[in-house]
Amino acid sequence: MRGGTVAVVGGSIAGCALASAAARAGADEVVVLERTHGRLADRGLGLCIHDGRAAELAATGALPAGIAAHRLTRRRWVVRDDTAAGPAGRVFWEQPFPFHSYHWGLLWRGLRGATPAPVVYRQGAAVTGVAGDGERAEVRLARGTAEAFDLVVGADGYRSVVREAVCPESRPAYAGYVCWRGNFDARRLEALGDGGWPAESVTTVCFSGGSCVIYRIPGPDGPRVNWVLYAMPPQTGRLPFDDPTSFPPGRVTEELTTHLGALLDREFPPYWAQVIGLTEPADTFVQPIYDLETARTTAGRLLLAGDAATVVRPHNTSGAAKALQDATAFEDAWRRADTWDELLRAYQAARGAAGREMVALARRLGRGQVEQTPAWAAMNHREAESWWQGQLGGAADIGGQAMTP
Ligand SMILES: Cc1cc2nc3c(=O)[nH]c(=O)nc-3n(C[C@H](O)[C@H](O)[C@H](O)COP(=O)(O)OP(=O)(O)OC[C@H]3O[C@@H](n4cnc5c(N)ncnc54)[C@H](O)[C@@H]3O)c2cc1C
Repeated sequence: MRGGTVAVVGGSIAGCALASAAARAGADEVVVLERTHGRLADRGLGLCIHDGRAAELAATGALPAGIAAHRLTRRRWVVRDDTAAGPAGRVFWEQPFPFHSYHWGLLWRGLRGATPAPVVYRQGAAVTGVAGDGERAEVRLARGTAEAFDLVVGADGYRSVVREAVCPESRPAYAGYVCWRGNFDARRLEALGDGGWPAESVTTVCFSGGSCVIYRIPGPDGPRVNWVLYAMPPQTGRLPFDDPTSFPPGRVTEELTTHLGALLDREFPPYWAQVIGLTEPADTFVQPIYDLETARTTAGRLLLAGDAATVVRPHNTSGAAKALQDATAFEDAWRRADTWDELLRAYQAARGAAGREMVALARRLGRGQVEQTPAWAAMNHREAESWWQGQLGGAADIGGQAMTP
């Protein structure tokens, strides 16, 4: 099937990838509607993609060549040990970690730069709702206008308005804990001396009731350090986490900042507490963790991709890879289809179950690494390995599932 008009709501990782896929597959017109006005490339978060998934996605064209990535090979699990170990704590387990890390803004820039010519990217275009029947789909914009397309893709993240039309019964469910996230220029580490931290190694600091993942990422001005700390928030009942929300950089409450400081003092090996302490408040933010499964990813002429379709807790390190896989499956379904209906059915068949299985795996990882943490300090290598296999529950690894040819 060739031709047709497509609107993609949301211009982040999933949005850019799906827009490219539609253009490559032969759409006449592809419009990306992104509500933000600012420079998306400035979003400085880190994320990782499994090497196996990255190779598959590079082969399909969904992950363009030339995007800066930092190679990671090992993951060290560390506990505070005030008796025997030094300031960097005690490594109680080490495992392979075949991933590359990315800077969100540089990844986005690479995906955006690779969108073929028919793609029109409109910023400041907030979509307030979508509607459609089996023949057309309509997008309503905040400024009061409506536009009709042959297909509307919801790539508008975990608070998707397109999902409200596809699957109104599905809403993100708060997992009961949050993450503090931050990143800073890696040159700041020089102030701390050598903490015994090889550049290719990820450190997971483990404590009762949470864990923190720390790794290097590339950055526009040189390498950066990125960290994500998962734990319960202060139990004051004043934080509105049941509704999807977040505390962006510079707007983290004093209560959340104080809570983080107390956690670092009490639970972290001193070196790693100092590492986290190198982060500017302006580069620190707090995000509640959510799960979201959808019973379907398509309805009428509407289709969901990326976090709009499924939100997997970040412990699985799979969200970006999954969004790019959605784009690959979409392009593949389009190329094989003779009608819109065939395209939508093939996409649902390819992507429906994959998301739900990853949500379940990430829930087990969240339970093991935050909600019901084991006595990590007492574990030997064999016990740690068996604890990890229990979380995987038969899955081959974290980082997402291999794409079936
Ligand atoms: C703490 C944390 C760590 C993570 N770490 C990793 C990792 O290591 N590896 C990994 O693969 N993934 C990771 N992820 C997940 C990953 O970031 C996402 O799964 C991935 O970026 C896909 O996002 P998306 O494009 O679907 O949605 P989003 O990035 O949320 O983008 C949605 C876009 O839609 C726009 N939008 C929303 N509503 C509207 C509207 N109404 N109208 C117009 N535009 C709209 C938004 O402005 C935004 O640009 C992590 C997530 C978290 C929270």
